[in-house]
Amino acid sequence: MDSVPELLSFAAQVFEKHGGIAERDDNHVMALLPPGLAHSLDLPEEVRLGEEAMPLLYGSPVLDRLIQVATEEIPLVFGRIEVPYLKKAGFDQLIGQDIVFTNGQVRVTGRAEARTSYMVLTCRYVALSDERKEGLVEVGTHESTGAIIEDFETLWPEFRPEFYTPGKVPPHFSIHLEKAIPNAMRKARVLAEEKLTDFIKSMRRRLRRDVKNTREYYDALRKEMEASLSHHNLSEAQRDERIAKIEDLPREMAQKIEDLQQKYKIQVRLRPCAALRFLIDVVHIMVEIRFRKHTRTIHLIWNPLSRRLDPLVCERCYETTRSVHAHEEDSRFRLLCASCAQK
Ligand SMILES: [Zn+2]
Repeated sequence: MDSVPELLSFAAQVFEKHGGIAERDDNHVMALLPPGLAHSLDLPEEVRLGEEAMPLLYGSPVLDRLIQVATEEIPLVFGRIEVPYLKKAGFDQLIGQDIVFTNGQVRVTGRAEARTSYMVLTCRYVALSDERKEGLVEVGTHESTGAIIEDFETLWPEFRPEFYTPGKVPPHFSIHLEKAIPNAMRKARVLAEEKLTDFIKSMRRRLRRDVKNTREYYDALRKEMEASLSHHNLSEAQRDERIAKIEDLPREMAQKIEDLQQKYKIQVRLRPCAALRFLIDVVHIMVEIRFRKHTRTIHLIWNPLSRRLDPLVCERCYETTRSVHAHEEDSRFRLLCASCAQK
């Protein structure tokens, strides 16, 4: 079974944050882990994660241990949001608007009030290059599906949540965060890279400028040295020495350019630093989907903070999506995002 690509990125992030060295490939992560980390994860110090011998999948014990390591130092705050209003009817119109099913026939079959949990994960990013830049990003997710909820992080304060005192937290929070944490961290990385756009551009601009200057410098140097060969008072040995130096210039220049590329290389480190978890009353909308000769019933969530349906996650890559494609597989069908449906 193939590993989930998002989980490989997540694993690489956890390894790096805890002092390991990780290299991400298409279908695996190669890593060198410090002994303490290897021990907590129950992995060898030199590990190749993601291939047949050691796949990385939702529900696998190694993923549980990675999440444990990633979250154990994060301060958690628990709260509850009372909502003034839960939508009673008119859900049919939201299908095709909030969530689009591109194929299959979709019918709303029921509605039920339910309580569910969401998380706002705050992550700190640090970009290291010739200069350093850091900041915070926040991501809202539905805890059990791992769907990224747009704007959740700005919506919740408007609803004046009530926070639970430690030790008085009710047991209704999801204990399964294996989708929420990796998805939130992946989204946080995207947001951090957006915030770093100017920084990245400026490092690239400086690299281009320095490379250009280096090339011009060596070009001028070569011309000067070539001109000096025609001096009459050079001995044979001095001439040979200068020719050797001229011939060595391209190598020397390549080395200088390589050093510059190292100097301006950008490394972005990301780590979760706080999580707010909320219990919220929502509406579950039961939906029957018919595709070819198959039928499935799923539930959608009407979110009272955003006043719209929450997006779904792709059943193959776990990417959050509002455009869902039924895809026949064996004797059933899966609900996929646009890019998985095309493969
Ligand atoms: Zn997908």
